[in-house]
Amino acid sequence: MADFDPQILNEPRIAPPEEFQKRARVRSLEEYQEQYDRAAADPEGFWLEKADLVEWFTRPVKTLEWDEPFAKWFVGGKLNVSYNCLDRHLTHRANKPALLWEGEDGKTAEITYAELHGLVCRFANVLLSLDVKAGDCVAIYMPMIPELLVALLACARIGAVHNVVFGGFSAPALADRINDAGAKVLVTADGGYRRGRIVPLKEAADAAAEKCPTIKKVVVVRRTGAEVAWKAGRDFWWEDVMNTAARECAAVPFDSEHPLFILYTSGTTGKPKGVLHTCGGYLVQTTWSTQLIFDLREDDVYWCTADIGWVTGHSYVAYGPLSNGATLVMYEGAPDFPQRDRFWQIVEKYKVSILYTSATAVRAWVQWGREWIDKHDLTSLRLLGTVGEPINPAAWKWYFQVIGRGMCPIVDTWWQTETGSIMISPLPGATPTKPGSATLPLPGIAAKVVTLEGLPVKPGETGYLVIERPWPSMLRTIYGDDERYRRDYWSRVPGKYFTGDAAQCDANGYFWVLGRVDDVIKVAGHRLSTMEIESALVSHPSVAEAACVSRPDEIKGEAIVAFVTLRAGQEMSGALRISISDHVATVIGAIARPAEVRVADLLPKTRSGKIMRRLLRELAQKGGISGDTTTLEDISVIEKLSHYKAAADDE
Ligand code: ATP
Ligand code: MG
Repeated sequence: MADFDPQILNEPRIAPPEEFQKRARVRSLEEYQEQYDRAAADPEGFWLEKADLVEWFTRPVKTLEWDEPFAKWFVGGKLNVSYNCLDRHLTHRANKPALLWEGEDGKTAEITYAELHGLVCRFANVLLSLDVKAGDCVAIYMPMIPELLVALLACARIGAVHNVVFGGFSAPALADRINDAGAKVLVTADGGYRRGRIVPLKEAADAAAEKCPTIKKVVVVRRTGAEVAWKAGRDFWWEDVMNTAARECAAVPFDSEHPLFILYTSGTTGKPKGVLHTCGGYLVQTTWSTQLIFDLREDDVYWCTADIGWVTGHSYVAYGPLSNGATLVMYEGAPDFPQRDRFWQIVEKYKVSILYTSATAVRAWVQWGREWIDKHDLTSLRLLGTVGEPINPAAWKWYFQVIGRGMCPIVDTWWQTETGSIMISPLPGATPTKPGSATLPLPGIAAKVVTLEGLPVKPGETGYLVIERPWPSMLRTIYGDDERYRRDYWSRVPGKYFTGDAAQCDANGYFWVLGRVDDVIKVAGHRLSTMEIESALVSHPSVAEAACVSRPDEIKGEAIVAFVTLRAGQEMSGALRISISDHVATVIGAIARPAEVRVADLLPKTRSGKIMRRLLRELAQKGGISGDTTTLEDISVIEKLSHYKAAADDE
């Protein structure tokens, strides 16, 4: 039996909207295929050509040195990442806005490339004055404010390694990451705004710093004006140190393999890992992929809604777009503050043309209802993107019709913190899309679906998603743990990079990422993917979002437990529960009928918006949670779900 709902595969492909296609960089599937084949025939030649997209102080002499699993890209090359994101634009984009920023409280800022350059140079000098040297680590724990972008680029300018920790994390989570990375300086703020409240970042930073002997200095941005505790000699106000810092700071050349940042993964599957990225390969691939996938042009207003605390924010808020000289929109706060149309207000106000967001955000909008959208003029949008989780076909179609008016291509981009850049995605003017599929690997990316022995699986069969050849923006190691790097990524399937995701290819060679390998459910000997069952659930008119896990079942081996959130205005009843189960049985087959359908107000998610099935699994199997919840967005969700279980037992 095929593991995946064949109905989806048979749906006709959606051609790129004509108007879009006419102007696109790559305009046909043949053109894509030609590029793909050329890259496959000579990967090193291909990537060396892409290296020209950035400016080198010294050109690389060799494309790749590969001593599995350790890669060096663009060997001998010297560059400065901040030079590429700033200085090289000053000749012709000095007065172009680099950043259109909007605070949650309505405060705004417009910063040109020339101004951003000035701020970055000053802050680079501040870091130098705080004794930060090339190779030292700087932890950044900030709200989504312009200073965050400045801090990132200032680190890059002087060769310091940044470790951004998402501002929603608690003090212990921050301390863990600072200690693991050995950061010397911490950059934070007095607070940030979230749903109208002040998030007391300085308080958490203080509590973390207590437990972090390596932190010698703390720089604090005044964002909210809230009163904060102060440790003289250790703490400095951003504005004070910036005022006395020099405006000039030369961009020094660094080796292509000089470390750029450490970033911890989101912890959907377990303890977060410190993923290490380096300068040359990372910048080349993010620069190239931003151009290609978002079909970026000079007059675009580009908004990637991710927080810079996640890799999407690193690669597609900061480095990729800035290296291309784009105008970016950045928003500090919650999407539903003061109301559920804040994003659409922003799109309308700034005339956003490219919107890149998470699958989980799209599902939230579906749940909130379209009244929030219909109030606004979204005609500036010309391209939409998603990332983070498989997007259910129903949510995809909604995104396409309601937000994109049927006129904007959707790029469903598959990638990971570890891959550094997007790996599988449609090219918006070239690749016909199928809702729910990330479609085809980019040129230069040897993605395959294989067995654990590394053998290809047939179209329509589930296997492991692997990458067969190194790529420039790949992680170089797990910081401080080469052994874990080798074990987790390069030894599960011999000689190939193991993504940890389960996937299928269909007859067109399109990739369907089905979710984590650990999330596959086995019912009566059949392997069912969570993505498949969840997509069926979400295609029920009352369901907004769903997550499936298994619990042991004496007869079937495993039984499916479905957690669902309902669309606005819906309420759970016995009849609805049966209707939902029946719907899944109709769409996929009786085998996939959930043994239980539980309703939840919210699903447990990581702070990057990914559903944490491992917690739901524990809940379904053991009735409680004992696993690591430090990356959970809202701990009360678990409590509510546990209560629900008790209520369900009484029914
Ligand atoms: P951890 O590795 O700590 O569990 P994580 O994998 O959630 O955390 P990320 O690197 O942010 O952290 O997420 C990458 C994962 O997100 C991918 O491996 C995949 O499972 C999922 N993903 C990302 N984009 C897509 C997409 N377009 N379609 C399907 N899945 C996606
Ligand atoms: Mg992962």
